[in-house]
Amino acid sequence: MTGDRTTSNVGVDEIDAVEALEARALEDRAALEALLEACATLAREPHLFAPDEASIDRCERALELVDLSAAAEPEFTTAARRSIAIIASALGRVSLANAAFAHAEQRFERALEALPTQSTPTERAWLLHDLARCLEAREAMTRAEQRWRECAATLRTIDDAIERDYFESASAERLAAAARARSDDTAARAFEDAADRCDDRAIEREVAANAGAERFFAERWSGSSPPPIAREADWIRRSQGLVRNPGASESTVGTVDCEAIFGTSQDDRCACGALAGRSQRGAICDRCGIEVQRAARRRSRFGHIALSERAIHPTALLGGPHGSMLALALDLTDDRVVAVRERVRCVRYLAIDPRGADTLAPDSEELAAFDAGRGDPAFLVGTGDEALIDALDRLNADGAAQEVSLELRALRGHKSADRPEQRLRIDRLEARAAVLSQLSAGASLAIDHVPVLSSVRLEELGLRAPVVALYEALIAARTPTDTDTNLAALAEVFRRDAGAATIE
Ligand SMILES: [Zn+2]
Repeated sequence: MTGDRTTSNVGVDEIDAVEALEARALEDRAALEALLEACATLAREPHLFAPDEASIDRCERALELVDLSAAAEPEFTTAARRSIAIIASALGRVSLANAAFAHAEQRFERALEALPTQSTPTERAWLLHDLARCLEAREAMTRAEQRWRECAATLRTIDDAIERDYFESASAERLAAAARARSDDTAARAFEDAADRCDDRAIEREVAANAGAERFFAERWSGSSPPPIAREADWIRRSQGLVRNPGASESTVGTVDCEAIFGTSQDDRCACGALAGRSQRGAICDRCGIEVQRAARRRSRFGHIALSERAIHPTALLGGPHGSMLALALDLTDDRVVAVRERVRCVRYLAIDPRGADTLAPDSEELAAFDAGRGDPAFLVGTGDEALIDALDRLNADGAAQEVSLELRALRGHKSADRPEQRLRIDRLEARAAVLSQLSAGASLAIDHVPVLSSVRLEELGLRAPVVALYEALIAARTPTDTDTNLAALAEVFRRDAGAATIE
């Protein structure tokens, strides 16, 4: 952003209005308060990340007008004081980001002074947090410690657990460092333990947020409901990197033990040891590239493997009461899925039929039909998983779901709906509808990547030895059969009672 007015957050009319308010602000308290409100709106924009010079200047000018006006009439309304606090803290954050620490300190002090007593504890905690960091940067350690104590006292009244943990962890860490500097080891340890407890809770939340990756192989049918398949785009966003090395060489780079992906294996120490100590936490070593952290953080980290070829999700092949998800998606019987998977030559109609019915036809009658239609663009040939994946790619899940819902409505309305064979048909259609709705929502039964949990997390789940070996075999797999065998084995291990129970 530049200082050009047209890039400001307000339109030209609004700028004119703000200028009119500025001109009247000294004589007219109402105009000044309206100006403060307008500037507070500017200041609420994400200045820290995209400081807009014009808005910053405007906010600074508004504070100057407050000083001039307060000399004549010091009392401001609560709303005006809140605006002053918002403007001053935004300006403080801009200065902090620009390393103008003296100016930042002034602005933060001013914001604290103006902050009305009925402001939220989060607002106050943020200010104290930023001011304390600013004072540390100015090496005013005693005053910084005092502000950290106030921050710690304020956070107790914050309702939101994530925010509370953030402030508690930040303040406890700094208060521990201050106690350490005074050689008060007992106090230091108590603060460090408090910070670690916050970190443990944060890790627990991360692990919960990793559900899509953690349950990738562990999902199972629940009665007649198909297992939920996590959208790859969602879980892979949380992956810390590509695991590509089966681990035969001496280096751990890119292996299931890679510290760049899964985090440091030693508390508060990078891999090469150049950075060590609690005070280095969060720093990334420029020699080895490893972040200094608690080793416990490995629990919440995972990576992923890129399969050498697209494969069918092992969960899609898991038998349900009306067939596997794959069979239901393509409207095939399980037997037919098996036949195609065994690489029987098959004929596949182009997916013109939205129900997907007879999309794959490995029997001789339909092969004859194919031969008769050779050269006809309505026919394609495919074999094995490749054919199934291709059919999945061409499946119009929305169209198929519509067909299914029409058929269901007709069947349910019919007087024979209670007959066992009709009942069975309805149940199967309902299961198919549930699978199609997952596909419509972006889930895929064909996969390119699989998640790799950290060995610490696998240890916790009691799965480390078998799963690590299978991950390594999967990385080394070069044929579709090898890939498939390892995927199936991984799914079996993860679904075993013990493992699945812990993951629930
Ligand atoms: Zn290092």
